[in-house]
Amino acid sequence: MRTLGEILLTLDKIAPLALAESWDNVGLLAGDPALGIGKLLTCLTLTEGVLQEAIDSKANLIVSHHPIPFKPIDRITTKTTTGKVLWKAIQHSIAIYSPHTAWDNAPEGINRQLAKILRLGNLRCLQPSPKPDLAARELGTGIVGELNKPTKLSAVWSLLKDAVPEIQARSTAQGDPEVSRLGIVCGSGASLLHLAQKNHCDAFLTGEATYHQVLEAQATGVSMLLMGHFASERFAMKTLARLLQEHLPEVQCLSSQWSTRNFESVLQRPVRSAFSTLHEPYEDQSNDNDPINDNLTDQFREHSALVARADEPIEQTLVLVPKSIRI
Ligand SMILES: [Zn+2]
Repeated sequence: MRTLGEILLTLDKIAPLALAESWDNVGLLAGDPALGIGKLLTCLTLTEGVLQEAIDSKANLIVSHHPIPFKPIDRITTKTTTGKVLWKAIQHSIAIYSPHTAWDNAPEGINRQLAKILRLGNLRCLQPSPKPDLAARELGTGIVGELNKPTKLSAVWSLLKDAVPEIQARSTAQGDPEVSRLGIVCGSGASLLHLAQKNHCDAFLTGEATYHQVLEAQATGVSMLLMGHFASERFAMKTLARLLQEHLPEVQCLSSQWSTRNFESVLQRPVRSAFSTLHEPYEDQSNDNDPINDNLTDQFREHSALVARADEPIEQTLVLVPKSIRI
């Protein structure tokens, strides 16, 4: 057992809060530093499911990558998702801590773990920290580095996929160009494409992008590689639990299984089967002798065929269901 206050010092050693972006909401978000902690749980996002897992496993500190709350709130009630989680966590004396962008940018943080997977050399930040002491240590936003020789994008994907199987290949590039210099920002980093451009990157790896950001990438000529938000960060919360365990042998440091069971499995399901899942309840109700139902089922088949050709995970796939289809 250690006090929460002692664990905060360890967390700041691994992911210094000084590295967090100015807009972020990091650090201890709920809790009393005097609280004794026997077990902690790391997770990507603190959901009701993760909270229940913490309650069931008697963990009394949750280290959630994404902050909850993120934006300022003026009340904590069970009428909102955030309020419901906070209310219940506090009722169970469970503290909440978020390292977020401090962990993204940390010396052993998410961006550098991705750079290590790709064996990038000559690592520096896409944008050095505005704090001179951090900038002098090559710390700041994102990471940029070189592959040891020009490499096809498909080979870059293979390296990522071998290390993090849930990462799915999505690229804004035409064909399979060779790339040398890569920029990386995990999670929702597409708004920082301009930094990759400024650093003359051939490719920019991030978690997710909007339609307009994809168009922007195509216009700039920097190949944007989309790993999936969840996939680009989730693996690193397991690493964080392992690092914390090394520093805190008296505390049991676990990584949440909830998201693996309940989110990853959905993302890994190809569109074809995800669409079948939507389809099944309707089919169950259909009656072979009902021409109207048969007609609707046929329409559904037609539309599932439209999206199923991709056989991609559903995270980045827009599935359009016409209003005439009742599900
Ligand atoms: Zn994220």
